[in-house]
Amino acid sequence: MSRRRYCKPELLAPAGDLLRCKTAILYGADAVYLGGRKYSLRSRASNFTEADIREACAFAEEHGASIHVTVNEIPHEEDFDGLEAYLKFLEEAGVRAIIAASPSIMVLSKQVAPKLEVHCSTQLSITNSEAAQQMIEMTGCDRVVLARECTMEDVKKITSAVSRPVEAFIHGGMCVNYSGRCTLSNRMTLRDANRGGCAQSCRWHYDVLENNRLLNSEETLFTMGSRDMMAMPVLEELIQAGVASLKIEGRMKTEYYVASVVSAYRHLIDELCDREEPLSESRLAYHRKEAEAAENRMTWSGNYPGIGGESSIIYRAHTDADVNHAFLGTVISCTDGVLELETRNPIDINDRIEVLEPGKENRSFTLEWMCDSEGNEIEKSRIPMRIIRMKVPFEVASGALLRKDLK
Ligand code: SF4
Repeated sequence: MSRRRYCKPELLAPAGDLLRCKTAILYGADAVYLGGRKYSLRSRASNFTEADIREACAFAEEHGASIHVTVNEIPHEEDFDGLEAYLKFLEEAGVRAIIAASPSIMVLSKQVAPKLEVHCSTQLSITNSEAAQQMIEMTGCDRVVLARECTMEDVKKITSAVSRPVEAFIHGGMCVNYSGRCTLSNRMTLRDANRGGCAQSCRWHYDVLENNRLLNSEETLFTMGSRDMMAMPVLEELIQAGVASLKIEGRMKTEYYVASVVSAYRHLIDELCDREEPLSESRLAYHRKEAEAAENRMTWSGNYPGIGGESSIIYRAHTDADVNHAFLGTVISCTDGVLELETRNPIDINDRIEVLEPGKENRSFTLEWMCDSEGNEIEKSRIPMRIIRMKVPFEVASGALLRKDLK
């Protein structure tokens, strides 16, 4: 009988709405975190109503997964109105945990909704074991989410020293400042980054002046945005260190992004933990390519190999060439080798197309025939959110996603 190499950590995925929540679970997430309409960062994400939260919990339970809810704003006095009732609602709806950034909310939750786990948010910038243990003792929290600014050495020391499970980010957007310690957006747009309103001012284009002398040109616009994290190269080390939960960032991301990234990490984690033999370089490269298939930005391994310097910043403008056009659409139905698709990006006859379906290896085909919704044969599709039909050499499940073949 084969032996597991490592204890398998939880894979925790983001969701901005019910569709993305279900997608994350179907593509392999053990748990999903989401935000309600109040008390949560990312207020621009299409946050969940109470009915949505109930449905998410029911769907998660049916599939052996769990739901975590962000209650992670930095609250001012008026923000406590209705909070107690909301925490009781989350407990009663079957939410497993809240992710909180304020010790006052953590303590309140323990008092009024004791069945809810409390996870200490990354917003608290936990970068050492002493801070983690103090937070556990002060608030009674059940899990510590590490700051994205931790190095691998920090992670190892914290996991071996603290008395509660540790969660760490493995993928997605990063702040150029310490997460949760930035007021660029507040100052420039009056949108409070710590109450859900970050305008991502670090990614804007700036002129740089020294004594009124312009240092940049039209071609060399200055921005400060960080590369996105992609921790696959150090994933095995994080698992070896005993990290209990591996977290993907991105409640604002699309269904395609969620499916691609969750699926890639699901397969990698399973291969790392379930197989006796070490993972080969070629398998790691394969999973990496899968995870990056949905990326729009340059990536790096985060601060785990060492605090990021100049190379972790994207010092140039984001152009149309950076936009990822791989996602072709969502399958509505498939009967007798003809599928109906809701389109997203341009499709041409003779394109190699890959089909992503939960729990299955990806399959590819060459597109030989398609038509518009009136049945007129077409050579190309250019308009997003249109219904088209295409011939496929195998049956495809409703809800499957199509993308340009990466190989
Ligand atoms: S402006 Fe940039 S660094 Fe600041 S909170 Fe927003 S994303 Fe993070």
